[in-house]
Amino acid sequence: MLDIRSLSKKFGSGDSAFQALKSIDITIEEGEFFTLLGPSGCGKTTLLRLIAGFEQPSGGQLVLDGKDIATIPPNHRPVNTVFQSYALFPHMTVAQNVAFGLEARGTNPAEIAPRVDEILEIVQMAHLRDRKSSQMSGGQQQRVALARALAPRPRILLLDEPLSALDLKLRKQMQFELKRLQRELGLTFIFVTHDQDEALTMSDRIAVMDGGTLQQVADPRTLYDHPANRFVAEFIGEANFLSGTVAGGKLSLSGQAPVPLPHGADASGPVTVMIRPEQVVVGSAGGNAVTLDGQIEALVFSGTDTHVTLRLENGDTLSLRAPNNSHATTTFAEGEPLRVALPVDALRLLPEDIANAA
Ligand code: ATP
Repeated sequence: MLDIRSLSKKFGSGDSAFQALKSIDITIEEGEFFTLLGPSGCGKTTLLRLIAGFEQPSGGQLVLDGKDIATIPPNHRPVNTVFQSYALFPHMTVAQNVAFGLEARGTNPAEIAPRVDEILEIVQMAHLRDRKSSQMSGGQQQRVALARALAPRPRILLLDEPLSALDLKLRKQMQFELKRLQRELGLTFIFVTHDQDEALTMSDRIAVMDGGTLQQVADPRTLYDHPANRFVAEFIGEANFLSGTVAGGKLSLSGQAPVPLPHGADASGPVTVMIRPEQVVVGSAGGNAVTLDGQIEALVFSGTDTHVTLRLENGDTLSLRAPNNSHATTTFAEGEPLRVALPVDALRLLPEDIANAA
């Protein structure tokens, strides 16, 4: 539906020029909840602003439904934005704020009132239609901003960190509602966040960005289970990194006996090996595994499991989660030895060049 082709954006010129986006390629499907995720300054908002038409690209194309939209002004593009700040008019009522978005786009006046009523029903704000937006809570203002952006029936709704001003409980509730709305209306959402959990729980697919480049585009499970590089592995969840060597189709880790390569892995020479803390097994594991001995350096009880930091014999540390569903974790003590196993199929081999650069 939306084809982002070799899109780049440079701010300024000469010595002060800054390349905010470097040749981005993404195809977004109709009806998708697509998230742009990355640390502050990675270029997510810039990409959203290019799609909205608030900024002009320095290179590349934006093709929507087969048409290049580069020269179409923002208010004529079939996309609309919900801003982090909501950008509501405080002196206008809820209904007037929603109508404003339609008037600005030149909607036929006879259609405006019924459309406002319809959309206020959808976001469950019809009972507050005559309330001034300055007299509403953060969550209510968020719904009005959403209604205003949805009213012109955009092909794509762009959402720039729309939930970041809400407290945690309301934020969780609005995450659920946004997702429900998106599914029910069958709309395409492009959502910007720097919050990994929010991205993982809400998205069909996520583009992880860093320094104006795309690091990986995939569904949440693939990103978590098969990160393309060290940056993605660390940005999405917690990760342990160990150095290893691949020779003759076998992997050696920290001087341990060689084991077969994880399923589907292909490498040779020095590698960085990643394993998630919850994949590390206390004691020994069935099947192919690397066994490591260490000393418990820190223990943190977290209800469902105990977070253990293990100091390995070679000086590296390893984080693991031991489930509290047996009495085993009650015998753990700082300074005590602990043997763990890393199942081979839970190991991920990451490209060494990118791992070192990160
Ligand atoms: P955040 O999560 O902090 O909003 P972001 O990933 O959305 O970050 P952008 O706002 O897209 O980041 O900015 C990307 C980079 O481009 C930043 O380094 C920023 O300073 C720079 N930048 C953005 N707008 C401009 C501008 N108008 N002129 C110059 N540099 C800019």
